[in-house]
Amino acid sequence: MDIEQHKIPQATAKRLPLYYRFINNLHSQGKLRVSSKELSEAVKVDSATIRRDFSYFGALGKKGYGYNVEYLLSFFRKTLDQDEITKVALIGVGNLGTAFLHYNFMKNNNTKIEYAFDSNPEKVGTEIGGVPVKHIDKLEDIVKGDITAAILTVPSAAAQGITDRLVHSGVSGILNFTPARITVPEHIRVHHIDLSIELQALVYFLKHYPLEAGEE
Ligand code: ATP
Repeated sequence: MDIEQHKIPQATAKRLPLYYRFINNLHSQGKLRVSSKELSEAVKVDSATIRRDFSYFGALGKKGYGYNVEYLLSFFRKTLDQDEITKVALIGVGNLGTAFLHYNFMKNNNTKIEYAFDSNPEKVGTEIGGVPVKHIDKLEDIVKGDITAAILTVPSAAAQGITDRLVHSGVSGILNFTPARITVPEHIRVHHIDLSIELQALVYFLKHYPLEAGEE
């Protein structure tokens, strides 16, 4: 990310990928400009907020003309570091891990799973979704200095041990899909996604807080 982004409020920064995705679609459709009203309807953010967000990036829009798509796209690419691919490793090629290896993360953002790791000799040496599966013993050798983030899809019991090794290998962020609460040093960012808890929460909300028709 750019140094100037220190001035951008976090709420605005969080909306950047949303804007980027939409502008990218417009660009591939050959559109040259977009109004804040059009943008607002597509990304479901009110146009005053969009104008305020964009004002942090300098005067990007012109009255009666809207925003120049090409300019916006290159601006967002630069700001979101979209010209640079972020390399990711996946640990644990089970059912969930295999699904992620088949998923095209490059479609919407510039992240790429470069390597997968597993301890099962039947899986080591294979290639899934174009990603080579390496033996977990090789983790440090391969990850060191080259991989920014890791996706953790091993069984819970293995999570902390693998995490320590990832931290030791210089990974800065971990997307933890195991139910285990892992401990990391302060400078490492962990995002925890427990799919069964999310599903349980959804079902609970459906039961106890049903949405009224027309409610957002
Ligand atoms: P599967 O049906 O392939 O076993 P699963 O998702 O039910 O899938 P899990 O037991 O959750 O299987 O394990 C996920 C993957 O993590 C498996 O491929 C397993 O070989 C791998 N794994 C288990 N322990 C380790 C470890 N210590 N290091 C690396 N990989 C491991």
